[in-house]
Parts: sequence; C-alpha cells; structure tokens
Amino acid sequence: MHDHRKLGRELDLFDTDPLIGAGLPYWLPDGAVVRHTLEEYIRTAERRAGYRHVYSPVLGKRELYEISGHWSHYSDDMFPPMDLSGEQVVLRPSLCPHHAVIYRSRSHSYRELPLRMAELGGMYRSELSGVLGGLTRVRAIQLNDAHIFCTLDQVAEEVQAALELIRRAYRALGVRPARYRLSLPGPGGKYVAAPEMWQRSTALLAEVLDRFGLPYEAAEGEAAFYGPKIDVQVADSAGRESTLSTVQVDFHQPARFDLHYIGPDGAKHRPVMIHRSIIGSVERAVAHLIEEHGGAFPAWLAPTQLAILPVSEAELPNAEALARRCTGLGLRAEIAGPERGTLGARIREARLVPYQAVIGAREAADDHVALRLRDGRRHDPQSADDVLARIVALVDAHSTGLWDQ
Ligand SMILES: [Zn+2]
Repeated sequence: MHDHRKLGRELDLFDTDPLIGAGLPYWLPDGAVVRHTLEEYIRTAERRAGYRHVYSPVLGKRELYEISGHWSHYSDDMFPPMDLSGEQVVLRPSLCPHHAVIYRSRSHSYRELPLRMAELGGMYRSELSGVLGGLTRVRAIQLNDAHIFCTLDQVAEEVQAALELIRRAYRALGVRPARYRLSLPGPGGKYVAAPEMWQRSTALLAEVLDRFGLPYEAAEGEAAFYGPKIDVQVADSAGRESTLSTVQVDFHQPARFDLHYIGPDGAKHRPVMIHRSIIGSVERAVAHLIEEHGGAFPAWLAPTQLAILPVSEAELPNAEALARRCTGLGLRAEIAGPERGTLGARIREARLVPYQAVIGAREAADDHVALRLRDGRRHDPQSADDVLARIVALVDAHSTGLWDQ
C-alpha cells in the first residue's frame, strides 16, 4: 500500500500551506471531484435507506456542550471557546448535540420513528501540532454523520441496517475491513457513569454482531464517552489500524436533552439515539481510498474516467467530439493530444485512468475507438457508442470491475 500524503501531492489531490495552517488541508480540483463523488454516493445511499438530511452550523454555545457532556468529558479535544460579547461560542467537536436539538424542536409521534437524520457536516478537533499531517490527522473534519431516533424495540434492526449500508459502501469503494471491534469503556472518568445504561447498550450491539454473523473483538477504553460502539477498523499503508465506520447506541444524550416522542398511549416516552457513520470523516475515507488503490480509484470515483488519445493531429476533431459526448453522458473525460508526446508516453501518463480510448485514422473513419483498460486489457476497435454505454452502466452501478460487474 501507498502513503496517501505522498501520493495525494503527486496526483494533485490535496495539499497544505503553512499560511493556512497545519492540519487544515485544502482540496485541489481532482481531489474535490473524488470527494464530491463520494459525498454524493453517501447522500444517495442514505436517502434510499430512509434518511433525511439537515444542515446545522459548525458553531454552538458552550452551554450546548455542557448539556451534551462534551464539555466535561471531551474538552481536551476541543478548540478553546471564543468570546462573543459575553457569550462563549465553541467550534463543534461533534454533530450530535445539534441533531438532538433539531429533533427536540418539533414534537414527534411514535409513528415517525425510526426518525433518521443525516448530515455531512464540519467539526473540529484541536489535535496537537506534532501529530498533524495528510488527511488523517486534521483539525477540520467533514463528518458523514447520522442520528437515528427510535424506540428500544427498533434498535437492533436499525443497527443491522446501518451495518448493511457500511457493507454495501465498502463493496462499492473496494475497501476491506481489517476487523470489527466492539468498543467498550475503560477505567477513568472519561466516561459517563451509568452502569446499567452501558450494560444495556453493549448487550444490544453484541446481539446484532452475533446475528449478523460478524466476528469481532471487544476493546476496552475505545467507547465514546456516552456509549459503546461497533467500530469498523481498516489498516493503513504502515499497517496501523484506524476506525472508518461506527455504529453507537446512546441512552445518555436523549436523557440530557430531554428528548421524547408521544407513544400510542398518548404519553411521553424517551427515544434511543443511534449514532452511525458509513465512511467516518471524508478526509480519512479519501486518505484510505488513496492508499488502498494506490491512486487507481474505482471508475465511478476516478477524477478522470476516460483518457482520449488521438494518434495524430488529424484525429483531434474526433477526440473533441467524443469528449463532448462524454460530458453529455456525465463522464469525466480528458484529451491527451499528440502535443503531450508519443502515444506510448501518453498511455503511461494516463496509467491511473480506468479507460483509455485510442483514436487512429481507421477508428476515426468508423466512429470507433481502440479501448485499453487500466489493468492492461486491450479491446479490438469497436463502436464508441457501445464503449461509452458500457462505461456509463458500470459507473452508475458503482462497480469496482472495469469491464464486468
Ligand atoms: Zn453523534
């Protein structure tokens, strides 16, 4: 596997500048394409799974985090508060408190549950400057987050559905989980003290993992301060593990924010809150994808999906016409013309692009292309329309296969 920091710079995906600050990377156009495509995939998958999206601000008053418990359990990782005319405002360390407040802002009937609220939103962590680097140790984070407000009876099914979403996303992204971890509290005051709550939520998560047939390891000291979680671990280029996806069961924040729904009996009941993230932070997910694929992203994610290679100047008009057809179909194509060197050199330069369409005089005359796949396979000249239709179908299906599903 590759180091995403080195490759990210070489491939013009992202970079940092001391003037912006350590741990605050910016995304170059090709990196932004990958990120945007990934975010769209997640949003669509969530919509189809019954989630509704919200937006909430990256700032909140200090009181918000005092209520959630972040202030007393998590403040070491938070930026210092800003004083705004006597009011203390904090860069948020998580999205949960905002979502709890959004839930609380309207009354809810049991008929609306499970209520699935999702957001790809910014959050901030005051990492020490010594450990910052690349996309994995950053101070500004875009989190793929969601909170499911549901009854106790609905928890197991919702946790299982979240694991299924994660499994499907990993298949599309070509990501292999290193292992599943059941993260439990450890000794010390970092965790909310409510033994009965911890037992209940731990039992629920373990039950789902067993029912799902997933082998997992329990790890003490890795839980969130408010509850246990299932972590999906991946390994980086150096073999170090990190958490990409998580599913957590939380009885704590619904109580702290006094959340409720109206039950069939007409009385108020307390919902359970499930926190879940399919790909974790967008930064960490893209870092992992760069390392996992060495920059050769699945075709649907690739910054350039098709390199169009006219053999000589004479085929340039055909190349341009093909590029326009690609744009019309939603494919990202780029022409690498003869001014960029010999055909062999241009093919080598485009080695990370999933598809290369070579157009010589014969192909130009028939509206054909000679297609090469990134993995070295070569096809006889065939109709450009057929080739584009096949690529569009594979991209739409989020396939990791270049020619077969
Ligand atoms: Zn949360």
